[in-house]
Order: sequence, then structure tokens, then C-alpha cells
Amino acid sequence: MKYPITENIIGGKPILSNGDLLDVVCPLDGEVISQVHLSGRAAVDEAVKTANNAFEAWSGITLKERVQVFFKYKQLLEENMAELSALIHEENGKTIGEAKAEVEKAVEITEFACSLPQIAAGEIQEVSRGVECRSDRVPLGVVASISPFNFPAMVPNWTIPNAIALGNTMILKPSEQVPLSANRIAELLHDAGLPDGVFNIVHGGQEAVEAICDHPGIEAVTFVGSTKVAKIVYQRGTSNLKRVLALGGAKNHLIVLPDAHPEMAASNIAASMTGCAGQRCMAASAMVAVGESDHIVEKICAAAKTIIPGENLGSVISQAAKERIESYITAAEEQGAKVLVDGRGAAVNGKGFYVGPTVIDNVKPDMKIASEEVFGPVLAIMRTDTVDEAIAIENGSDYGNAASVFTQSGKMARYVMDKASAGMVGVNIGVPVPREPFSFGGWNESKFGSGDITGKSSIDFWTKLKKTTIKWNPESRVNWMS
Ligand code: NAD
Repeated sequence: MKYPITENIIGGKPILSNGDLLDVVCPLDGEVISQVHLSGRAAVDEAVKTANNAFEAWSGITLKERVQVFFKYKQLLEENMAELSALIHEENGKTIGEAKAEVEKAVEITEFACSLPQIAAGEIQEVSRGVECRSDRVPLGVVASISPFNFPAMVPNWTIPNAIALGNTMILKPSEQVPLSANRIAELLHDAGLPDGVFNIVHGGQEAVEAICDHPGIEAVTFVGSTKVAKIVYQRGTSNLKRVLALGGAKNHLIVLPDAHPEMAASNIAASMTGCAGQRCMAASAMVAVGESDHIVEKICAAAKTIIPGENLGSVISQAAKERIESYITAAEEQGAKVLVDGRGAAVNGKGFYVGPTVIDNVKPDMKIASEEVFGPVLAIMRTDTVDEAIAIENGSDYGNAASVFTQSGKMARYVMDKASAGMVGVNIGVPVPREPFSFGGWNESKFGSGDITGKSSIDFWTKLKKTTIKWNPESRVNWMS
């Protein structure tokens, strides 16, 4: 094994857990590179005690003081970008360039956290003569963040800088499939000067997540992962009276109108469907081509063929994921869809869990590939005569993370923007991820709970408001409120 067992980090120290050991497999070649314990309730309990002990001192300093750690953390993310990107590449299988992009996004979020003293100030007003009301943002206490395998560094950093800068102490439960990057993040936070116990990691799977949802010492939980588990976490966490925000899966629709710029649309769509091997909750997955669009479909196929496994296309996370993705392609083909570009059976030097870019035409809305999340580099193309039919397909999805329209008509772009049932909408953009300070979050079954996980919206999630009413000079300014 290239790396030793990946340990929990509690109180700034590696703590060996005692749950069953799971192999951490490099999806690029199938080699076991580490192992991780599947921690249970005892480890969560230990982490909560530690985070709770750290809370008073950490929340007791000012926001301006707390963000100093994140100025340093941003610098360390930048200085260690190459090494962290290599680790992400190794444990997740995405390309080095994609791994670097997620660290860059972590940097951007950290910059936002550094600006919190400017944007998260409370409010004050003289509401009556001599009487003021003020509201202050107060941290919640111990909070938890549960993350998926597809962004080992970015998704944890959707929550770490904001939640901690706002005065909370945190337990991260990373995906057990990619535990290594999380521990490196813990080291960088430590090196940035974060006091021990403010950030803790408990590795594990279902049992650790359930323990987090049940623990009375945890005030708030964020979850990012599949819709199936997002629902479980939302229901279990809120029934235990916690604040919960749970982001789920996605089926993102791209509506392509005949007047779309062919080259631009094709390169954007091909990049969106194949980026991170299609394992992005913002990936283009279903395209609805309106009217005569063969010229654009041809260009998408040509662009897809330039994306080569092992060169500019990473692997998917596991053999099971590869088999699941390929079975969707085969089922669509058996139901009459036409596979224009076929990525089944891909491998690099005979190894790894690869699926090549796959473009499937003549998909019907009632096929599984049209409605279910495939989570691979696969584009399912449906055809309609009108934009309203295309919008009806998009609106009919259970999910609602992202939707994009490709057109050169401002009027049509605006029409689709208004009608799309998705939290993040793109115009001539294949991956419409909002940049900070705009927040990230879908609609429908792509998100449970109110507000978004990043940006300004996250400030409300990670704090509670204390409203204070003050009478400064009781004698001289008497009125009905005195
Ligand atoms: P997953 O739901 O399998 O796992 C996510 C987390 O939940 C992991 O930490 C895992 O250990 C835990 N978990 C798994 N099964 C559990 C169970 N039965 N009970 C309790 N906890 C459980 O998701 P994944 O496969 O790691 O990630 C891929 C999914 O995440 C996709 O559906 C993707 O769309 C979604 N995702 C969504 C967003 C978003 O912003 N909406 C972002 C990234 C990924």
C-alpha cells in the first residue's frame, strides 16, 4: 500500500478508529493505495466532545480574527496545489487539470470566507427615540458536513471555510471512497493556525452518517451526495431537530435551439458531459435538440471523439460505477436509441475503471437513461419540434440542479431561463456553476432544506440571529416603548 491506513483526525491528532477496514482503491489502475476504518458512534461521539470543547474559545474571538486563519489557508492551498491535485487525481481518478480546478474553487470559496467580516455584519437601528434594536450573527456550535466521492477537496471546502470562519466547530465525514484529500486538508488547516479541535474528521460510511444525524451535540448538518441518501439525512437530521441542508443528485438538461452557435455549443456540451468523467452533479446529461439540429449533433460527436481516456478523460470511481454506466448505455440501445459515439469497454493499458465519451441519439423521454442519473460521460439526446416540448421534458424531471439553453436569440434565452425548473440555469454555458458570492444549490429533488450551501446564502445557514433591544437613556426619552 502506498499510504498507511487513513486515520480519523480528532483534536488535531490522527486517531485510529476500530470499525471494519475498507480498501481505498485508485480508480486509474485498480491498485489498493490505503485503507480506511468505517467508524461508528464512538468515533462521532469523541469528535463531538472535542469540537464542543473547542467551541467556546473559537467562537469567543472576533470574526476578523478568525478569518486570519483562512487568509493563510488560502495561501497554503495555492502553495500545495500541485501536490493536492495529484492526490485527488490518484484517489478519485479525475485528470490532474480537473483536480487542480477543484482546488482553485476551494481557493475561491476561501476568499469569500475571508470577506465575511465585510458582508456578515449585523444590523443596528434606532427603532424608537432612545431605543435601538440590533441583530448579531451567532455561531450554532458543533456542525457536521458529509461529502461525496466526486469532489474530494471542493465539496468539503464548500462548507469548511464559511462554517468555521463564522465561529462554528466542525466534523467532516468525507466519502469513504476518497478519504486521503480530506486528511491533507486537515493538515493545511492546522498549518494555517486553526486551533486543534475546531476541525475534525471522522471517516466512515452509513453508520457514521447515522450517528451524526442522531447526535444531540450536533446543531446542523450539511450533506452532499445522492438524492436517496440526501432524503435519509434530511429526514433523520430534522427529526432529531437539527438544521439540515441536503444536496442530492441531478439530471441536467441542455436545450439546444437550431440557431445555437454550432462550434461553441458543441465544444461546451462535449466538455460538460465528459468533465470529471461525467461525475459532476452539474454535468450535461440529457440534451433536448429542438428542430433541425443534426449539424450540432455531428459537431458534438466530433468533439467527443477528441476526448480520450487516460489523456484528457479520467476514470470513473469504481468497477461497479463502470458497469452501472455501461448498463444504462446497453439498455438504451436495446430500447431503440442509437449509440453515435460508444465509450463502452474503455481501458488504459488494460487497466482502470474507464468509460469513454458516449453520445446516444433518438432517446425517448420514457427511457431510463432519459430520467435517471447516469453519472458517467454519457449524453442522451432527445428530439422535439418545439421549445415548449423541450421545456416540458426538463420540467418533468424529478431533479432540478441545472439547466442550460443554447441559442443566439436573447428572447428565446430569456424564455427558457424563466420556464426552467432548476436552481442553476445557464445560457450558452454547459456547466452553469455560480461563482462566489453567488450561491450553489438546486431545486426539487436535487436539494432538501432552505437556502444554498455556498455564497451569501450559507451565512444564514451557519449562524443564528440574536436580536437585542437596548434603551440607552431611560430618563430623558420616554415614550410608549419605555
Ligand atoms: P452517496 O450518496 O453514495 O454518498 C454520499 C455520502 O453519504 C458519503 O459520505 C457516504 O459515505 C454516505 N452514505 C452513502 N450511503 C449512505 C446511507 N445509506 N446512509 C447514510 N450515509 C450514506 O453519493 P456519492 O456516490 O458519494 O456521490 C455521488 C452523488 O452525489 C451523485 O448523485 C451526485 O449527483 C451527488 N452530488 C450532488 C452535488 C450537488 O451539489 N447537488 C454535488 C456533488 C455530488
